[in-house]
Amino acid sequence: MGDWRHPDIRPTMAWINATADDLNVSAARLVEHSLAKHYPALPPDFLAWEHLPGSASSTGLIPIPRLHVSWCSRCLAEDFASDRPAHVRRQWVLAAVGFCHRHRWPLEDRCNGCGSRTWRFAMPARGPLRMICEACWQPMERTSAPALYAGKDTRVRWDHIIAFEQQCMGAIRGRTPDQFRFNFTSAGQLLNEVRDVCSLLTKKPPNDEYWWCRTRNIALNDFACDAMTPGYIGLQFYSSDTRNPLATASPLLRRCLLAAACGIIETNPDVGAALFGPEAPPAIERFIARTDRGGLDRLLMADGHWSSAFILQIKAARERMARRFMISKLEAAHRAIRNAFAHSSSNEQTKFNRSTGQI
Ligand SMILES: [Zn+2]
Ligand SMILES: [Zn+2]
Repeated sequence: MGDWRHPDIRPTMAWINATADDLNVSAARLVEHSLAKHYPALPPDFLAWEHLPGSASSTGLIPIPRLHVSWCSRCLAEDFASDRPAHVRRQWVLAAVGFCHRHRWPLEDRCNGCGSRTWRFAMPARGPLRMICEACWQPMERTSAPALYAGKDTRVRWDHIIAFEQQCMGAIRGRTPDQFRFNFTSAGQLLNEVRDVCSLLTKKPPNDEYWWCRTRNIALNDFACDAMTPGYIGLQFYSSDTRNPLATASPLLRRCLLAAACGIIETNPDVGAALFGPEAPPAIERFIARTDRGGLDRLLMADGHWSSAFILQIKAARERMARRFMISKLEAAHRAIRNAFAHSSSNEQTKFNRSTGQI
């Protein structure tokens, strides 16, 4: 019906009983493995979806809501090596997760051999169940070469995002975030901040001349971090007007969004410097300078929607920026006055020299 809904997330008892019969397992065992059981308070837009709910295709039909599954090639390789059937991990369908936290490894959603996104489980003549590409029939445990050759710097950046993702995953479970990093922030507030920051980062500017179509002129593209997109350099993304762009993002876009959100929300400036380079201006200032002021103001005014600590951070950054702007204006005025004086005094000198006949 075009709603954020999926049987696994808000299952009805009738659905559970029918599916348990279908799969020949007990209903209690099925419930034990459902996402609903593990993340009872999970907001549906923090799951990865194939399509936006309610988005009609070119034929006018609304696609069935389906979860977008990414995978960790190293987890799948481990399954195969230990003769275990390949299986989808619960973490791989969360929208705030772009890495496997066990292997500290980027998740993927396409075949490393041919680039196809369609896959299926297949039972080979020998060995365990495997996840294979439907286009080239290669198993999905084949690892991406650029990720394999990632340097130490890249891995340090991955670790920063993984730490941030762990806070988001905790919040999805209803756990209060680490108060040392996110002062006076509740689980709900952290999720609101991540969702809103990602939405502001991908919104097209209000006065963009290409208003009729999607544009690449969005704030997110100012937060380039090639470590998040192994194998791609300077990847640019298109605008989106959804409330939570994470919900339908590919793992590449998801990691870039999370890296930018992490740099902006995280209070420790070293994290931003590690992600975007020590020369880059503070992430929060770039975010303020680039996003729609009206939209940001509306979110700042919403009572209890964001944490007071994050609101103060934004206000302090705005004041810093205003002060810097004022100082640079004063300096420009001072320079102009000095130049004018220098000019007029040299004119006076010339007149004096002329009158005394020294030239
Ligand atoms: Zn893994
Ligand atoms: Zn393939």
